[in-house]
Amino acid sequence: MKKLVLNSMLFISLAMASFSYTSCSRHAKANNEPVTAATDIGFPKKEVLNNSVLSAEEQAKLTPDTVLEILKQGNKEFTEDNLTVRNNTERVREAALGQYPKAVVVSCLDSRVPVEDVFHRGIGDIFVARVAGNVVNPDILGSLEYACKVSGSKLIVVLGHEHCGAIKSAIDDVKLGNITTLLSKIRPAVTMASKDYEGDKTSKNKAFVQKVCDDNVKLTMEEIRKNSPILKEMEDKGEIKIVGGVYHMETGRVDFL
Ligand SMILES: [Zn+2]
Repeated sequence: MKKLVLNSMLFISLAMASFSYTSCSRHAKANNEPVTAATDIGFPKKEVLNNSVLSAEEQAKLTPDTVLEILKQGNKEFTEDNLTVRNNTERVREAALGQYPKAVVVSCLDSRVPVEDVFHRGIGDIFVARVAGNVVNPDILGSLEYACKVSGSKLIVVLGHEHCGAIKSAIDDVKLGNITTLLSKIRPAVTMASKDYEGDKTSKNKAFVQKVCDDNVKLTMEEIRKNSPILKEMEDKGEIKIVGGVYHMETGRVDFL
């Protein structure tokens, strides 16, 4: 009896899944032209971004400099609120067939820095590795190697940001659980920023916090080159670029170092 009930539930679930898939398929195509959820709810079609997710061929044609320009332009659109409605339901299905992102971003965990939005990118466009203080360890380095060497991304962006809690905690030398180990990876930036610094070297000094943030981005870029011979070689051959940037909280602008 119990088995019968379970079987019936399974059948109902399958039937519902099938119904929902059918509605999606029907939704996606009409007159051989993609019809989007966005247009259906009233956005003019011209304002909806092209459905196309980056293909392997398109990715191969990109250079590191082109990708950097695309991200800079995307950030400009973000700061000007000149955003395009994305056709996510269509892109989700298209991206399911494979991914060929153009860049990989190492960002802080901070909830105020939504990386895809910051560069006005969507599904399948960029890889994002997030960890408090945008530092690297062997796992993050492995992820970057996967993004560039295996998946063909052309650009690594190390993205720090203003008012970073991880940077402030590293300056304050906070000791708490696993946070202690994490902050130890930011401490070299505190040491670097402190050198020859005349002002107040505490987390209350905004200028000092920003200097540590900038130096932390630079040190993370150095760590990548030092601890990943694969990425160093790719950079030396011009196959990828490694750049650093800082996100400004009040404006949403990313300044590349
Ligand atoms: Zn942060």
